[in-house]
Amino acid sequence: MFEQFQIPHGAMEIVKKLQDRGFKCYLVGGSVRDLLMGKCPDEWDLTTDARPEEVAQSFQKVVPTGLEFGTQLIILEDGKYEVTTFRTEGRYLDGRHPSIVNFSKELHEDLSRRDFTVNAMAFDPVKGELVDEYNGQKDLKKKIIRTVGDPLARFFEDGLRTVRACRFAAQLNFKIEKKTLSAVKQSLNVVQKVARERIHDEIIKVLTKADYPSICFDYMLKTGLLNLFIPELVLAVGVKQPREFHKYDVFYHSLYACDAAPKDRPAVRLAALLHDISKPECKDGDHFYGHDQKGGEIAYAILKRLKFGNELTNKVINLIKNHMFNYESSWTDAAVRRFINRVGMENLLDLFALRIADTSAMEREIDSGYLLELKKRIDKIVADENALKVSDLAVNGQDVMQILQIGPSPKVGETLNSLLEKVIDDPALNQREILLKLIK
Ligand code: ATP
Ligand code: MG
Repeated sequence: MFEQFQIPHGAMEIVKKLQDRGFKCYLVGGSVRDLLMGKCPDEWDLTTDARPEEVAQSFQKVVPTGLEFGTQLIILEDGKYEVTTFRTEGRYLDGRHPSIVNFSKELHEDLSRRDFTVNAMAFDPVKGELVDEYNGQKDLKKKIIRTVGDPLARFFEDGLRTVRACRFAAQLNFKIEKKTLSAVKQSLNVVQKVARERIHDEIIKVLTKADYPSICFDYMLKTGLLNLFIPELVLAVGVKQPREFHKYDVFYHSLYACDAAPKDRPAVRLAALLHDISKPECKDGDHFYGHDQKGGEIAYAILKRLKFGNELTNKVINLIKNHMFNYESSWTDAAVRRFINRVGMENLLDLFALRIADTSAMEREIDSGYLLELKKRIDKIVADENALKVSDLAVNGQDVMQILQIGPSPKVGETLNSLLEKVIDDPALNQREILLKLIK
């Protein structure tokens, strides 16, 4: 049935073993959807009527990853497989998660709790039998996202499904079916109750799995979802930019920059989405003075709100604050070293990727030869082993404290930083004797 891709040996082994023991077992959800679309699934999900303890007894390496929901990870030689016991969901009292999870013996009950028709198919790879009770195949052909059952009821059970509809539309490059779309608009109250961590996970997925995350954010704008989570971006709608450079308003420029950023670098995609976030506020005629610094501050608030971790947040903020760099061949080597020091060696390639994404979402083709030139100069500076950060100096905090006869204090850092500035201007100064004298 799925000629392009072999079902992995491990998945077959699990299905056979459980069937031998008298249970049913199917591939399900995203893996079946992806196989039918001719894509290789990145996760293999299986569903069975065996109870969690019966699954655990059947295999050697089993990790209970979500046991309260009946989910376990089976680790085999060729990979990891998520096996979940058939379940029906109890009533959703809070619109966030089911109040009780009931295990079931019936596949059709398990499929009926799933969110979208394209995600509600099961496949038995031993018998070669596809179970498709909600016309998932038809919707795959029509390229639409449609809920299983009444959309409003399904969104009231779990508000996250509204965001998932937008995420899958982008990930699969599908349209959201009309009734489903209009139900999203009527479910905003429920969405507000959803834990932010779950929204975060969907945003990460759209950034890392979709070729065009703009499809998701555009649906979120049109349904009112974006206003709940990133109202600052909604303010960019209709904000005009000088025609000479830009064919889009700030909103669509941001979305298309996000599309153009590499899928495997979520920090760059987020930075692209938010790099002009303060433009509406900073607009002064045709100018947006200070929008890089201010943008960093606004983006910080957004990323905290959406539960992004510190490391990713700091990286994104740094990219946004530095996105307006303006390299010219006339820069001195000292200026290039200061640039490296300001951005951080480890962020330079991401900053260049952001610049390329940013300019490709503009009107004019901009020759990016200057980036290559800058990159060459940076490589040379690195090869020359110039000091670019405080830890590269030939002296350290201990030396400063000893000479100035002070204990640990901000003064130590300030002194080292001012030495670094001198060394960046003149690398020849980075010798212990000279720096010790300078401290004095
Ligand atoms: P991806 O390839 O992006 O992981 P997926 O379909 O595997 O896509 P997941 O978020 O991993 O998506 O969810 C796995 C499956 O679980 C879905 O296909 C769907 O059947 C079901 N599912 C997940 N979340 C929900 C939800 N909130 N409501 C109903 N069903 C859900
Ligand atoms: Mg999945």
